[in-house]
Amino acid sequence: MNAILNRRLVTDIKGVGPALKEKLAQLDIHTVEDLFHTYPSRYENFEVLPITELVHDQKATLEAIVLSQPVVTFYGRKKSRLVVPLQVDQVVVKGIMFNRHFAKDQMVEGKKVTVTGKWDQHRQQITISHYRIGENSSTEIEPSYGLRQIITPFQFRKVLKQAFTQFREEIVEILPNRYLTEYKLLSRGMALEQIHFPQDINHLKQARRRLIYEEFLLFQLKMQGLRQLNIDRTQGQRKEFSETDLIEFINQLPFQLTEAQSKAKQEILDDMRSPHRMHRLLQGDVGSGKTVVAAIALYAAFLAGFQGAIMVPTEILAEQHYQSLTKLFEGKLVVEFLTGSVKGKERKRKLAAIESGEVNVIVGTHALIQDDVSYANLGLVIVDEQHRFGVNQRKVLREKGIDPDVLFMTATPIPRTLAITSFGDMDMSMIDQMPVGRKSVETFWVKESMMPRIINLIEKEVKSGGQAYIIAPLIEESDKLDIQNAVDLYQNLSNTFSIPIEIGLLHGRLTPSEKDEVMQAFAENKVQVLVSTTVVEVGVNVPNATIMVIYDAERFGLSQLHQLRGRVGRGDKQSYCILIADPKGETGKERMQIMTETTNGFVLAEHDLKLRGPGEFFGKKQSGLPEFKLADPIHDYRALETARKDAIEIVTNNYLEENQEFQQLKQLMDHVLMEYQVGFD
Ligand code: ADP
Ligand code: MG
Repeated sequence: MNAILNRRLVTDIKGVGPALKEKLAQLDIHTVEDLFHTYPSRYENFEVLPITELVHDQKATLEAIVLSQPVVTFYGRKKSRLVVPLQVDQVVVKGIMFNRHFAKDQMVEGKKVTVTGKWDQHRQQITISHYRIGENSSTEIEPSYGLRQIITPFQFRKVLKQAFTQFREEIVEILPNRYLTEYKLLSRGMALEQIHFPQDINHLKQARRRLIYEEFLLFQLKMQGLRQLNIDRTQGQRKEFSETDLIEFINQLPFQLTEAQSKAKQEILDDMRSPHRMHRLLQGDVGSGKTVVAAIALYAAFLAGFQGAIMVPTEILAEQHYQSLTKLFEGKLVVEFLTGSVKGKERKRKLAAIESGEVNVIVGTHALIQDDVSYANLGLVIVDEQHRFGVNQRKVLREKGIDPDVLFMTATPIPRTLAITSFGDMDMSMIDQMPVGRKSVETFWVKESMMPRIINLIEKEVKSGGQAYIIAPLIEESDKLDIQNAVDLYQNLSNTFSIPIEIGLLHGRLTPSEKDEVMQAFAENKVQVLVSTTVVEVGVNVPNATIMVIYDAERFGLSQLHQLRGRVGRGDKQSYCILIADPKGETGKERMQIMTETTNGFVLAEHDLKLRGPGEFFGKKQSGLPEFKLADPIHDYRALETARKDAIEIVTNNYLEENQEFQQLKQLMDHVLMEYQVGFD
């Protein structure tokens, strides 16, 4: 997000002609502002530090005196190794340089040299990658840009330098004074100049701090602005329903809502009653009871005279939700099921019933938003496991001319960092409490050699009426081979158990009705052991299953393992999760260890995020995760929190409209939001 206050073009810079303009354009640099915001991707540090402050294995620059003539040894073809004793402060250090034997003549005894290279703390030795005779004269910190060889670093820096000379004074401060003072931030002009031409490490740090805050603040203002926009554009969505009727429905549920469920329910109902459209994310760990809360919202919509739809990512889940909702709503309202596999006459009949309003609640996959589906009066859409849907699918319904309340539900706990970046424009509810009496799943991490004991455990459990999942070994990038593995494992197991056990097999290549058949058999305990690929991951609910065995556990993300583990421990019996893994690296071991230590999804999610990064966390480009130029939402978490707090304060108090101090910021935000709206509807 560039701050385009300054409309100067690169051709306004002295020395930039058509050829250079063309090259800069290839780097997406068109204006002076673009140029200033093309930040270095990294820095070479040539700053000379006292020897006591050097870090092992890191780059260091030393000013030294050559103690005696270097010794060169040749080896192989054209290879050489030069060793030179150096005096740094009062310490003797060994300098080593490869394949530059000619330096021997320059490094004369008693001469001053500046050497840069990797520092070996234990050997007190530096592997020199760069040297100069005399004192250190290079800019101590040298930025390096991702110029893709379109333009030389030298040329680029020359243009930058000239741009600063000409236009430094025109860089407009966009942050109000109060923040500059409160957080002791550099001015915008100073920060931009220091990020490109840092005087020293400290100035660079301060420049980064200022620009990161700015980046986050603009982003958070945009999010808050979008929220406001959503609220403004959706006046008149008030749903009125009878409180007494709803309470009656809640009271006849087979259990009492947890406090967390009650709170989430209340937030959702308040949204539905309010004049603006709901845009809310409901988070809750697997088994925390989101489905019931969803059902209450659907019932409220029904009482208000609206249809409700619940959209899930897979056929299996659709089927399960359909069954549990049919049961919950039995004799009260009409639930219908619609997925891509419903075809022909059956589909026609269902579509007609949906269009006429005969059906009150529709459960299905993304088939629910396909062209041939029209609704009588859709007032509430619930999207389960929402991050599995492409970001665009959120908009499709709106484009069909329906503007219902939307509730997103996810069982993949989203670390707060990501929640406030990716979902900053949504309201949040959280079910952070499990229904009482739920035992946490005991988790073990073992090697494959333990399989006989695992088989024993399963047999024992089955004898006492329990059931087990076994997730088949995973082969990266190959759905086909994974299925083969599942098939192999299934066949092996058939010969392994010493008692009669019915084994089921579930994988992605089965037709929806085959899958249903298997799941149904498992749900009814006609099948006791279910061998499956990860298709079983999301939402599936068989409370009688008490054992989850996961092969190759080290290959899964923590959140995914947590999802899989969430398939058991859903009844009141003690459940077990067995991770079969032989991780090589330390982080792998650490991850398995964490799994055995906590069942808190949020804790695991934070770890996952740290260990694997946000892209991995959400899976490829689906994330809708914003890309920041300088800021890193995880590393710079505090700045993000601060910026969010400030953005909320700004929007709540309407500072942009009413406070002179915020005028520059307002101009910029108007620009940003306009851009967004143009590409929005
Ligand atoms: P989630 O969708 O969050 O994974 P579910 O809504 O499927 O969780 O609930 C998991 C199980 O817990 C279901 O069998 C459900 O009936 C039960 N359940 C939900 N809420 C409660 C509650 N407050 N007390 C007891 N059991 C509950
Ligand atoms: Mg669920």
